[in-house]
Amino acid sequence: MPTFSTSPGTRDILPPQAGRWRAFTSVFADVVESAGYECVIPPMFEELGVFLRLGDATDVVTKEMYDFEDKGGRHIALRPEHTAGICRAFAQHRPTTPWKVWYSGSNFRYEKAQAGRYRQFDQVGIEVLGPSDPLLDVEVIALGWHFFAALGLKNVDLAVNSLGDPGDRAAYIDALSAYLNSRSAELSEEARLTLQKNPLRVLDSKREQDASVIADAPTIGAFLSDDARAHFDAVTSGLSLLGIPFRVTRGLVRGLDYYQRTVFEFVSTSLDNAQTAIGGGGRYDGLVEDLGGPSTAGVGFALGVDRTLLACDSESVFAAPSSGVDVFVIDVVDGMTAVRLTEVIRAAGYRADRAFDGRSMKSQMKSADRAGARLAVIIGADEAEAGTCTIRDLLTSEQSVVLQSEILQHISLILGERTPRRATL
Ligand code: AMP
Repeated sequence: MPTFSTSPGTRDILPPQAGRWRAFTSVFADVVESAGYECVIPPMFEELGVFLRLGDATDVVTKEMYDFEDKGGRHIALRPEHTAGICRAFAQHRPTTPWKVWYSGSNFRYEKAQAGRYRQFDQVGIEVLGPSDPLLDVEVIALGWHFFAALGLKNVDLAVNSLGDPGDRAAYIDALSAYLNSRSAELSEEARLTLQKNPLRVLDSKREQDASVIADAPTIGAFLSDDARAHFDAVTSGLSLLGIPFRVTRGLVRGLDYYQRTVFEFVSTSLDNAQTAIGGGGRYDGLVEDLGGPSTAGVGFALGVDRTLLACDSESVFAAPSSGVDVFVIDVVDGMTAVRLTEVIRAAGYRADRAFDGRSMKSQMKSADRAGARLAVIIGADEAEAGTCTIRDLLTSEQSVVLQSEILQHISLILGERTPRRATL
């Protein structure tokens, strides 16, 4: 056993998985940048107060926050999500609206670690600050939908709901709370505890014992104001217009307190554990103001990278990209020709590697294979003497002896041209 290993709920993402994560972010960036979103990188920790906006009675705030006092006596928390930090950034810098941004990065929640639920997990997401137009909600939801499709996922369900305006929500919570209290004897102990703190969250219970009480609970639909209803109708009409299938799920409330009007969730139907939500979001029109900024509407989503990749595994899509090199340089003289040729080949835009420690020809050929190289460039004593090298196609086993000074022409005949790397000095 090694002396140290990863803490519970954290993982090393090793090659080739780490390459898959990078590819994931790059597909996400392509999808959202095509819609005018720009990358933003907020800090990983903030003053605790920024995250208290998620709601005093939410699990994220009461149980899951990684918070601590720093050496300067500040009460700090590692971010449990990105939205609050991005709204804090908006309030601080006041960029012009609409502010359309995307992000990718880790969040931290002290949760019970299990498959698909980690203490450090990654999300990609978008946020738009400024417009309250329901057609923006449509754009945001559609981008999430198209991103999952771009990964190759097919088994994704979209649930949408409206939580109404703050007044509607409060009236609904009163009615829900009265109803749940009237049937509290039938609820699980956990649900009874949740009911005292945050009645809405009882609707999230996946326990069988709570199912029948939840099934008969009043739903938010009847409590929506005319404005909130019209807003939601525009969202669903827009989604229909785009041919994006969705289900209006009146029980969908989402965990965090700042949501109002539209909320939505993407669920993978190919994941069979309890952690099937691969992303979600909604409108949070009061959040920037709560953080001391001007009254500003906002909408966005966060997608869980870890869990979405588990969904990709179960649908056998979006495999890790091949990490092989193009060329492996084998120098069995003194390694100096390999030093020079790998530089030349890399600068021309090819991926090139070599062996170290003066290994034998056989061992270096093995390394070339392991590196996934298409071509081996071999320098033996005769070649070194004559300023030549043998270029061997590892796919067809064809080989020829060429001048070292003409190596790039020969490589490009087989592999095609690449974009040269720009000089750095
Ligand atoms: P939330 O911010 O809780 O709405 O989460 C948005 C998405 O992030 C979820 O749908 C999950 O895919 C992912 N997620 C949330 N919490 C975790 C966690 N502890 N581990 C892994 N993924 C998570």
